[in-house]
Amino acid sequence: MHTADVAIIGGGIVGSSIAYHLVAAGCNNVVVIERETAQGKGSTGKSMGGVRAQFSTPVNIQMSLYSIPFYATFEERLGYPCDYRPQGYLFCATSDAHMAYLRTNYEKQVALGLKNVRLLKGGEITDMFPQLRSDDIVGGSFCSTDGFVDPYSAMIGYMSWASDHGATLWKNATVTGISRVASTFELATTRDTVSARRVVNCAGAWSAGVAKMVGIDLPVEPLRRMLVPTEPFDQFPHSAPMIVDMSNGFHFRPEGRGFLLAWNDPEETPGYKTDFESSFIEKILTRAADRVPVFENLAVNPKRAWAGLYEMTPDHHPILGESPDAPGFFLANGFSGHGVMHSPATGKILSDLILTGKTDLIDASLLNFARFAEGRMIHETAVL
Ligand SMILES: Cc1cc2nc3c(=O)[nH]c(=O)nc-3n(C[C@H](O)[C@H](O)[C@H](O)COP(=O)(O)OP(=O)(O)OC[C@H]3O[C@@H](n4cnc5c(N)ncnc54)[C@H](O)[C@@H]3O)c2cc1C
Repeated sequence: MHTADVAIIGGGIVGSSIAYHLVAAGCNNVVVIERETAQGKGSTGKSMGGVRAQFSTPVNIQMSLYSIPFYATFEERLGYPCDYRPQGYLFCATSDAHMAYLRTNYEKQVALGLKNVRLLKGGEITDMFPQLRSDDIVGGSFCSTDGFVDPYSAMIGYMSWASDHGATLWKNATVTGISRVASTFELATTRDTVSARRVVNCAGAWSAGVAKMVGIDLPVEPLRRMLVPTEPFDQFPHSAPMIVDMSNGFHFRPEGRGFLLAWNDPEETPGYKTDFESSFIEKILTRAADRVPVFENLAVNPKRAWAGLYEMTPDHHPILGESPDAPGFFLANGFSGHGVMHSPATGKILSDLILTGKTDLIDASLLNFARFAEGRMIHETAVL
């Protein structure tokens, strides 16, 4: 039997960040239990690595206001690179309704303290990127401190720091059952039993199954997302931000010597599907060439494209904090496509809640599990 102060189920970027923040706060008897033989095989290793503060809800903006400066200083803090590239996110509005939406979000972002966001006129976007088809672009919004990180590197950075300072990582160990013995949880795993008074569910797209082990019905569903990297391409600048076409949700960013293309197919249905469907290539290339005519010349190798899972909640916000029905069992789930960018804030919030029962970073009650039963959902509409 292994004993820990805190047992974390899942060694993706969220579990690793929580381990880091707990150890940094002085709680170093932490064990992270990961079922795969290597970290990053869940959603973290499949992510596009986008980080942004351009959200529509105050709580998401606040989480980014902690997370992005954290990523900017990651290497100084952890001695490990996360490859933060502040190339920005550019939202291109193609209707007055989009522009009104961006303006409302902009006002909230500025009011909360975001400094580098600005609204753009259509002509300014054309000046920045003449390669974009701009006949229908009425304006947009750009934030220069948004950008990208390397999710795998950040995850390894968090976990290496935590391990160097006392945390334990078990790989190739699956949690198969959880039982309660007085005020302690006993976790049955394929390696050994773990006894801990506090347990954190960080099982990503698989978190509903883990929550079931303590009798909780967690509203987190897996939803496939596919990404298509292109072959080297030099007819669009590699200093470009993440560019989002609001007419259909197509977005892309530079990656290596080519670009990484993304589009949320509205026909996708929930389920554990991680195969890449080759018919997606034509769908996405059509949208790519429609917005960026020179993308007609893009070459892609379908074998390099991949699929992974978003962990969706009904209101597209994560579920954070202690479960009301299982005291000592904490949730850090349902990031709905934002788990990489919000992993710094999540680590801090969970560490605060586990160690002190409160946090100053956000109003934690907004994201607690009880919001569903109490009809307090807060909808994020800026989901890509
Ligand atoms: C295609 C794609 C693009 C994305 N783009 C972005 C983006 O641009 N920006 C962004 O912020 N987010 C993005 N995301 C979302 C982001 O990747 C996730 O929100 C984030 O990785 C979630 O991290 P996690 O640690 O919770 O989950 P995961 O990385 O999935 O880790 C969960 C871990 O739990 C382990 N596990 C599960 N069950 C058990 C068990 N019973 N016992 C032990 N271990 C278990 C799994 O093996 C896994 O390693 C994207 C996701 C995808 C798929």
